[in-house]
Amino acid sequence: MLRALLLAPPGAGKGTQGERLAGIYGVPHLATGDLLRRHVAEGTPLGQEAKQYMDRGELVPDKLVNSVILQRLTGGKPLRGFILDGYPRSLRQAQDSYDWGLARGLTFHKVISLAVDEDELVQRLLERGRRSGRSDDNEETIRHRLRVYDENTRPLLDFYRQRGILAEVDGTVTVDEVTDRIRAVLDPVADWD
Ligand code: ADP
Repeated sequence: MLRALLLAPPGAGKGTQGERLAGIYGVPHLATGDLLRRHVAEGTPLGQEAKQYMDRGELVPDKLVNSVILQRLTGGKPLRGFILDGYPRSLRQAQDSYDWGLARGLTFHKVISLAVDEDELVQRLLERGRRSGRSDDNEETIRHRLRVYDENTRPLLDFYRQRGILAEVDGTVTVDEVTDRIRAVLDPVADWD
């Protein structure tokens, strides 16, 4: 059973790699952005509240994000393995989820950071916006999301480095090569049972 976090700025490839890794390791890929967008599309009260933050490129308040992710982790059949993407995204969320995980024996085995420089991220996100019409993939919001990442999420690299579970992977090589390099990190810790 594998529990891993993909920790990287918008556009670094968390979604693409998350899907692939979920298939490889037989665990669900949980992307908070996708879970939140589903709430928005369904027009739930939570989605209506979250949308205003998402459209501005701000973090959705912890209370809303926690409830979305906890619902998914504990609702129905509780999950023991997962590839998380997009949570935690602030030190507060990291501390809360670490405490929550410790109490249940569900901390991450590994945290994978995907490094891609800013110009490349902006180009990728503009292209995604052109193709998918995702409302937060416009230049102004993209730049803001990158600032929000630097301020709120980048400090988590140290948080996990200090806990000895951070692995840094170059996110600018081909998609297949990124997957291979992540596998080199995760294969040894994945329990295949
Ligand atoms: P990206 O990584 O490209 O920004 P996501 O789909 O992961 O895209 O997230 C889209 C938006 O959803 C974020 O800009 C933010 O508003 C919200 N969001 C996702 N995860 C979280 C989180 N853990 N905490 C707060 N807001 C979040």
